[in-house]
Amino acid sequence: MNDDQLLRYSRQIMLPQIDVAGQQKLLDSTVLVMGLGGLGSPVAMYLAAAGVGHLILADFDQVDMSNLQRQIIHRESNIGESKVASAKQTLHALNSSIKVSTLSEKLSAQALEDSLQGVDCVVDGTDNFAARFAINAACVRSQTPLVSGAAIRFEGQVSVFSNIPGSPCYQCLYSDTNEELEQTCSENGVLAPVVGIIGSIQATEVLKLLTETGRSLQSRLLLLDAYTMEWRSIKLKQDPACAICKI
Ligand SMILES: [Zn+2]
Repeated sequence: MNDDQLLRYSRQIMLPQIDVAGQQKLLDSTVLVMGLGGLGSPVAMYLAAAGVGHLILADFDQVDMSNLQRQIIHRESNIGESKVASAKQTLHALNSSIKVSTLSEKLSAQALEDSLQGVDCVVDGTDNFAARFAINAACVRSQTPLVSGAAIRFEGQVSVFSNIPGSPCYQCLYSDTNEELEQTCSENGVLAPVVGIIGSIQATEVLKLLTETGRSLQSRLLLLDAYTMEWRSIKLKQDPACAICKI
């Protein structure tokens, strides 16, 4: 680590649980951020600021005026641009020393699996079950840790799936989910900082995973009701009938 890096990350290196060794792990890590919307925005910005060495950004959408209320990585000048290009611009302005790669195509199951090569952790910031289930399946197959988050209205949830054999996966939560349960921010609305709260927790869990410190949200689902500002945490178990993680 050079002097610039020691200064830039000094407030993090100061933490005995991180130290120079932990910061070096972050600099050597690769994180795939799926979705550069309300959740992916704070996740990618905090991971870039904290010095995660390589961020891979995946999103096939373009920046729209209605995104700006909560997707804080994008600017008015980015409207009409691809979200990954817009996000990359902000991240490089924030920290020019990290590597940022982009995937702007809709990923097939195979492409998704290929993109996990060399990835230490995946963050799910997508907004629909089809994408979340596909990301989960690829993470389970490659045993890549997944930090999952969702937010709608005044509500949010976040969890960590280590995807080591015997542990619950994201699909275990939704063994009986059908399409009718699908709700999106575009149809139901969301209060701007609620995605920021959940995304910030996702970023925190990623940094803990990468530096192997603290107690993670593994096998726990943290639920936020921002309307009453109450938190709840429920234990997760592997679904014995799960078609994805049960071998
Ligand atoms: Zn499962």
